[in-house]
Amino acid sequence: MNKDLIIGCHVSMNAPDYYLGSVKEALSYGANTFMFYTGAPQNSYRKPLEELKISEGRQLIKEAGINEDNIVVHAPYIVNLANMNDLEKHEASKRIIANELIRCEAFNVHVLVLHPGAHMNKGEDFALNAIAKALDDIFSKLPQDNHVKIALETMSGKGSEVGINFEQISKLISLSNFKDRLGVCLDTCHVNDAGYNVFDKEQLFEQFDKIIGLDKLLVVHVNDSKNPIGAHKDRHENIGYGEIGFDALNSIVNDERLKNIPKILETPYFNQLPPYKKEIEMFRNGKFVPNWRDNI
Ligand code: FE
Ligand code: FE
Ligand code: ZN
Repeated sequence: MNKDLIIGCHVSMNAPDYYLGSVKEALSYGANTFMFYTGAPQNSYRKPLEELKISEGRQLIKEAGINEDNIVVHAPYIVNLANMNDLEKHEASKRIIANELIRCEAFNVHVLVLHPGAHMNKGEDFALNAIAKALDDIFSKLPQDNHVKIALETMSGKGSEVGINFEQISKLISLSNFKDRLGVCLDTCHVNDAGYNVFDKEQLFEQFDKIIGLDKLLVVHVNDSKNPIGAHKDRHENIGYGEIGFDALNSIVNDERLKNIPKILETPYFNQLPPYKKEIEMFRNGKFVPNWRDNI
C-alpha cells in the first residue's frame, strides 16, 4: 500500500464545524489532502472567515501530519472572467476571485482552481485575452503578502468553454504578466471529453510537457467519465465505472512524475453515499476491486 500517495477528494464545509468538519471528512476517507470551496460552489456568498473554525481545522491538519501545501480550494464556478458584455458584472467577477485568493491565504492554502471561462460567441482569442487581462488586474491589486497561485483547469469543451486544450491554456498563461502565479489543474474526465486519449499516458504527458510544461502542473482531478473520448460533456463517473476505467487512471495517479502533485477525486456519490474511501484505497493499493460500489 502506498501511503505516501498524495490523494484526496473534494469535501464539504458546512455548519457547525466548517473547516474542522472538512478536515475530519477528508481523514475519514483515508485522504492526506483535499479540495474544498470556501462557500457554496454555485454562488459568491461567503461566510466571514472568523466563523469557519479555521484554526481548529489547521490544528487537526497538523496533528494528522497532512502537508498543507497539498490542499486546494476550488473557485465558485459561476464566475466567467471572459464575459465582457456587462462591465459591472465583469468587475464583480474579478472581486469574487480576488476575494477567494485572499480567503485561501487565510486558510494557508496556496492553490485556487479556476475554470478559465466561456467565450459566449466572442471567440476563443477574445476570451483568452479578456481572462489574462482580468487575472493581471486581480494579481496586481492583491496584498503583497498573498502568494496564492491559480490553477487553470483543463475543460471538457461543453458550451463555449475555453481552456479546452493545452494550446489554449498555454496561450492564456503566455498572455499574462503574472506567469509565475499561474499553473494548471488537469482533470482526467475533462481531457477525455475534450478529445485527449487518456489511455496513451506517455503521449498525453509529452504533449502537456511540450505545450505547457509539466512544471506548471499543480493539481490533478481524478475522475472517470460517463462519456467516450471527445464527447464534450463533462459528466464525472466513479472510478472504474466509466469510459476511462481504473487501469488508465491508476497509471496516471501512481506515476512517479506526479509524485508531489495532489490528486483529487470529484466522483459522484453513489446511493447517496460518498465513494471516496474505496476509491482512495484502490489507488493506494494500485488494484481494482470489481463491483466495489456494492459495498460502500
Ligand atoms: Fe472544476
Ligand atoms: Fe475538475
Ligand atoms: Zn467536471
